[in-house]
Amino acid sequence: MNINEKMFGLGSKRSIIREIFEYSKKRANEIGKENVFDFSLGNPSVNPPEIISETIKTLIDTEDGTLLHGYTSAQGDFNVRSTVANSINKRFTLSLCADDIYMTCGAAASLSICLKAIMNDGDECVVFAPFFTEYRVFVENAGAKLVISTPMAKTFQIDIDDLEKKINSNTKAIILNSPNNPSGVVYSEETIVKVCSLLKKKSKEYGNPIYIICDEPYRELVYGDVNVPYLMNYYDDTFVCYSYSKSLSLPGERIGYIAVNPKMTDARSAYLAVCGAGRSLGYVCAPSLFQQIIGRCIDAKVDINIYKENRDLLLEGLTSFGYECVKPDGAFYLFVKALEDDATAFYEKAKKHELLVVPCDDFGVKGYVRIAYCVDKTRIINALPAFKRLAEEYEK
Ligand code: PLP
Repeated sequence: MNINEKMFGLGSKRSIIREIFEYSKKRANEIGKENVFDFSLGNPSVNPPEIISETIKTLIDTEDGTLLHGYTSAQGDFNVRSTVANSINKRFTLSLCADDIYMTCGAAASLSICLKAIMNDGDECVVFAPFFTEYRVFVENAGAKLVISTPMAKTFQIDIDDLEKKINSNTKAIILNSPNNPSGVVYSEETIVKVCSLLKKKSKEYGNPIYIICDEPYRELVYGDVNVPYLMNYYDDTFVCYSYSKSLSLPGERIGYIAVNPKMTDARSAYLAVCGAGRSLGYVCAPSLFQQIIGRCIDAKVDINIYKENRDLLLEGLTSFGYECVKPDGAFYLFVKALEDDATAFYEKAKKHELLVVPCDDFGVKGYVRIAYCVDKTRIINALPAFKRLAEEYEK
């Protein structure tokens, strides 16, 4: 083969989510969309705040098109980066400036850039199961090795003893994703404090910082009085990878940022490495129009009560039918124990009831499925009897 085999492999192997997506479209054509209970995709079902479309209209009507649609500086517009930095400072009592922020095309780009900025050949990156499957792609593309830490049973919090076993002198970073995709779990402050103290101890022992990369597209999607610790307040060597895909329901617009903690070891060099990694990956000048939107709508919010209602309805229904669910404090996923050991076999049986859920083997945990409840409420109401019938089938 004349082309890069690894890239060919990535492009030609369909992910299970994509496979379900194709099946869902085909099945909807056969029996009608309303009869297919598709819970596979993490595409926000809540509309972006109205101020977003109002601001788009205003900008298009009033701004010079060559500026609005033109290049910004590679790391993003200075005023937008200042606004982002000030917003972080206000919310989390920190002191970042524009030059600690790099605007990106969403969290996927933020992660790829951060990893590329810090990894050298032979380095390792620890991720916590269950984890967003693309981490493997991003970590390996940065030339590093992905190491999986297994979670505490049932709570799916981080198992500190397991993490300690997975760290060695090659460990360059860990990726923390809280609220978590696919479990919906928010790592408690107690867990975060323990992780940080372990990493501080290990960084000292090996004489090099072990970085924390916080992947935070779901930060704003938490239900009830749940605290999502902001890692820069606990650990200096922290990068935050943020995205507006879920928090403002803008996944197709590709907009987010990286925040580099100014207290990080060699912070200026780290930021410049981020700029270099962005340049080497071609992730320069995030979409200009949406940079301006973020600059003007920094305090906008989506109505997360819609997700909360969906979560409560689904959680209550499934639990009453005997399903074992992990308590989800955030994101819009429910992590459910399959009714047999083989999650793929369970997925196939669910499919016969027109229920499309995602088996989570590729997320690093066997025997579970993910149900994305970012859907219309009626889909959940109509699907509950099918979930009941599926449970009854296993009881027989
Ligand atoms: N990280 C996690 C945990 C995600 O679930 C997703 C998307 O679903 C991403 C990163 C990528 O997000 P973005 O659309 O901002 O690139």
